Amino acid sequence: MSDKTYGIDLGTTYSCIAEVDEYGKPVIIKNFEGQSTTPSAVFFEDGERIVGETAKNGAVMNPDALVDMIKREMGNTQFGFDFGGVEYSPEEVSSFILKKIVIDAEQSVGEKIKNVVITCPAYFDSNQREATAKAGEIAGLNVVSVISEPTAAAIAFGLLNEEKSVVLVYDLGGGTFDISMIEVQPNLIKVAVTGGNHHLGGRNWDETILNYLVEKWQEITKSAEDPMDDAETLQDLWAKAEKAKKDLSTMKKVKLRVLHSGMKADIELTREKFAELTANLLAETLMHTRMLLEVAKEKGYEKFDHFILVGGSSKMPQVAAMLEHEFGVQPKMVDPDEIVAKGAALYGQILDNNQQIGDIINGFVDENSTPTEKEEKAFQVLSDKTGKSITDLKKMAIEVVDVTSRSFGIEAKVNAENKVCNLVLVNDNLPVNVTQMFATADVNQRVASIRVMQNLVREPYAGLDASTEIGIAQLTLPSDLPKGAPIEITLQLDGQGRLQVFGKELTSGLSVEAKFDTKNVISEKGVAEAIARSEMLTFS
Ligand code: ADP
Ligand code: MG
Repeated sequence: MSDKTYGIDLGTTYSCIAEVDEYGKPVIIKNFEGQSTTPSAVFFEDGERIVGETAKNGAVMNPDALVDMIKREMGNTQFGFDFGGVEYSPEEVSSFILKKIVIDAEQSVGEKIKNVVITCPAYFDSNQREATAKAGEIAGLNVVSVISEPTAAAIAFGLLNEEKSVVLVYDLGGGTFDISMIEVQPNLIKVAVTGGNHHLGGRNWDETILNYLVEKWQEITKSAEDPMDDAETLQDLWAKAEKAKKDLSTMKKVKLRVLHSGMKADIELTREKFAELTANLLAETLMHTRMLLEVAKEKGYEKFDHFILVGGSSKMPQVAAMLEHEFGVQPKMVDPDEIVAKGAALYGQILDNNQQIGDIINGFVDENSTPTEKEEKAFQVLSDKTGKSITDLKKMAIEVVDVTSRSFGIEAKVNAENKVCNLVLVNDNLPVNVTQMFATADVNQRVASIRVMQNLVREPYAGLDASTEIGIAQLTLPSDLPKGAPIEITLQLDGQGRLQVFGKELTSGLSVEAKFDTKNVISEKGVAEAIARSEMLTFS
């Protein structure tokens, strides 16, 4: 078993795992098929889960046994995939993807993998992050941290320890488009603003090619039939469309053959034609980028210093060309489909280092040194132990600050109207701890229902209609309290955005504590059952 922490990009359409090598460089660990990324597709068979490219192919014969794009359902407790009398949660389906890439990586590195950092989109709320961590737990992993994808990308781009800079991350993946602004300060990195369209990605570009192929086939064969009516042809067309799209990132034109009902059509597609057919999709990403820049301006981010491209779909040459044309700067791009996993692996190492420094400091018995002296000494000890320079080690001592993706508050009567009093505001830095005083509404009130709500309003008050309920904590009150008796409520979010609520009745000191971190994700029992099921399975 290794102590090392690996980095996993659990993507909507493709997933990827990386490690930091002996030279401190992040490297991708290829899967069994020899590919850097693995399709996030799961094919269900009795006693077996087939993940990746083979799963996609298996779907031709039995499309109902295939689950893809499961990431879109993370944190959705209503979703279940039925197979063999069992309902599979998004966490469990995701665990199969994790398991496959981890098993393949273990074969490649020759050791058991336990500790991982998993990435998720910056807009994921606390429940979705918790669901991501649970997926790892079901897969038998120790999820050290769940960090935002653009943050990981910025880490891998070596943008840490800049004086103070603002990074724009444009991530066009397979099923989503995310645009984020990251703020980097010495030893600190945080997501400042996020935006995008969660239903726009490379798959839409594939679909455009697919429609074009069908149209051309009908034109050439003069047949009124629709090749898409045939499940097998359809599956084949999706695969051909995606391959053609990828080829057009390096080639000027591609030739495709569409065969259906014994009639064939040879179709040529040029890069220009492809760009023209999909120009509206690209324009949509531009619109979201401009929208984000507007919001960023309101928050005081007038300009950005770095512009980086992430996501496999950024490899389409028209993406960088369009952005350079619009913004006058050439965006940077390095291995866009691997960079997030690499950043996660680097972050894993950052956490390992922080932990080691902390452990060394705790082990010191010398009472006389100041905290700074102790830290200096600890770096020296770690440097001697690892052979790495103190400067390099200090560069790694970074704190990743996330911001909350929602506002959190309590329902209360304000001027005779029920509203949500927001204690924590969307985009506040994590961790955060806010206490506010409330009062009982009636004489001799025996219970205070603390209704915890979330919304996207960055104001002290939000309407009930703009908010959704997270849960209710019941605070029992002593008898004979007057109306208006003070109740202190504290909302606390940890560094990962997990929420806890504390309520205290100040006259008697009675208190209530409620954790909401697992309400909207799979239960502990559900996790245990999923782990037991997983042990019966084989993965390929
Ligand atoms: P995810 O959305 O899961 O984060 P990725 O960032 O790996 O996934 O992006 C996957 C998308 O990138 C897919 O739509 C894939 O077809 C596309 N893609 C991968 N390589 C290329 C390429 N060379 N040219 C164009 N698109 C590509
Ligand atoms: Mg991605």
